[in-house]
Amino acid sequence: MTTLNHLSGNAGCIGQYDPQALPLSAAQAIVLQWVTPLAASERVSLREALARVLAEDVISPIDVPAHNNSAMDGYAFDGAALATATTAGRLTLTVCGKAFAGHPYTGEVAEGTCVRIMTGAPMPAGCDTVVPQERVAVQGEAVTFEPGAVARGANARRKGEDLARGGVALAAGRVLHACDIGLLASLGLVEASVKQRLRVAYFSTGDELRSPGEPLEPGCIYDSNRYALGAMLHRLNVEAIDLGVVRDEPEALAATLKLAAETADVVLTSGGVSVGEADFTREQLQALGDVSFWGLAMRPGRPLAFGRIWSGGRPGAGRAALLFGLPGNPVATMVSFYQIVRPALMAMAGAKAQPVPLVPAVSEQPIRKRAGRTEFQRGLARRDAGGQWRVAPTGSQSSGALSTMSEANCFIVLAHEAGDLDAGDAVDIMLFDGLV
Ligand code: AMP
Ligand code: MG
Repeated sequence: MTTLNHLSGNAGCIGQYDPQALPLSAAQAIVLQWVTPLAASERVSLREALARVLAEDVISPIDVPAHNNSAMDGYAFDGAALATATTAGRLTLTVCGKAFAGHPYTGEVAEGTCVRIMTGAPMPAGCDTVVPQERVAVQGEAVTFEPGAVARGANARRKGEDLARGGVALAAGRVLHACDIGLLASLGLVEASVKQRLRVAYFSTGDELRSPGEPLEPGCIYDSNRYALGAMLHRLNVEAIDLGVVRDEPEALAATLKLAAETADVVLTSGGVSVGEADFTREQLQALGDVSFWGLAMRPGRPLAFGRIWSGGRPGAGRAALLFGLPGNPVATMVSFYQIVRPALMAMAGAKAQPVPLVPAVSEQPIRKRAGRTEFQRGLARRDAGGQWRVAPTGSQSSGALSTMSEANCFIVLAHEAGDLDAGDAVDIMLFDGLV
């Protein structure tokens, strides 16, 4: 990252907003201003390219398809014959040869003749139309059909109609999906130039946390955030570096933050950012870097620390990493990740992705909602017989209740300005699962 203004205590970054009631959209915009896409790229084989971010445009080295070819099993002929008069309104053509995929017909196709052709076979010279085999009557070496059975040019795929040689086949910033891997292969390419994977270090904070597998002493809880964060990072295909659980001790926190800044591009912590937490968490974050503490107008996920920390232990010393101090409550951690961290990580990884789609739905229940904050309720959505999406909250909306998040298949997104809703009111939903 190059020179940037200071974040902490700098109202200029927040503009007209109160940092303790920062609208989600403003927070997202500020975060994105601080993100610089990674410059480094590498070449990887197609098999390793899934979910990577394309570093440069892919220019098609060939036409796809490489030749005019048949889209059907049938008979290829010169469509001009369709206009010629025929006996009893039918067209009769003599079969002069065969064309199979990989085995073109290279002879001449004289007037009054056609070529038996299979799907994918190159169109013989002089032919532009294919009549499907189901539409013809075969009599020895001749086929007969009604001219109305096929329009001129039908059932033939044109050279370069999918991708033209020299054109941009895939644009830089594309997150490669399975179809893109297939497309790159269809161009004959064996590798792709992709952005280097982002390195993201993460850890949990709290004296009360025990790792799964350890005995649970009275007053303690299992650390779930590190596992949920690790899983969400895995989905984003970043290089996730698990730095474990850090106790509520200033030295331990400082040492882990420095190590994280040394090894990663982005550092995620959970816990310790809410009001009432031991002051040293904030002190450490502020001492090591340039970090501001926000109260987002969002539920769940109000507290958030955002900024930069340096491995040398003070601003400007050593390596810098972007820092997100996420709230400790497990659902708040996840919502903050999806709404704030994920878009930032994608931008930093160089991805030019579409925003996650919002689907219009109808609420099946009244929902209490305070105007002036964006709420993400856990919902179960289904499409009714009429094609309308209907959604109901899955139960407890406590920011600690992961079970109702597991039961949900979407977030019910209640807009910043919205107030209480009645059953039947329109809401937006953000579905958890997609096809690819
Ligand atoms: P804090 O902001 O540190 O006070 O955390 C808020 C709440 O989230 C507290 O009830 C914590 O026990 C809980 N919490 C914090 N970190 C984790 C974690 N890693 N896994 C599960 N719960 C956590
Ligand atoms: Mg804590």
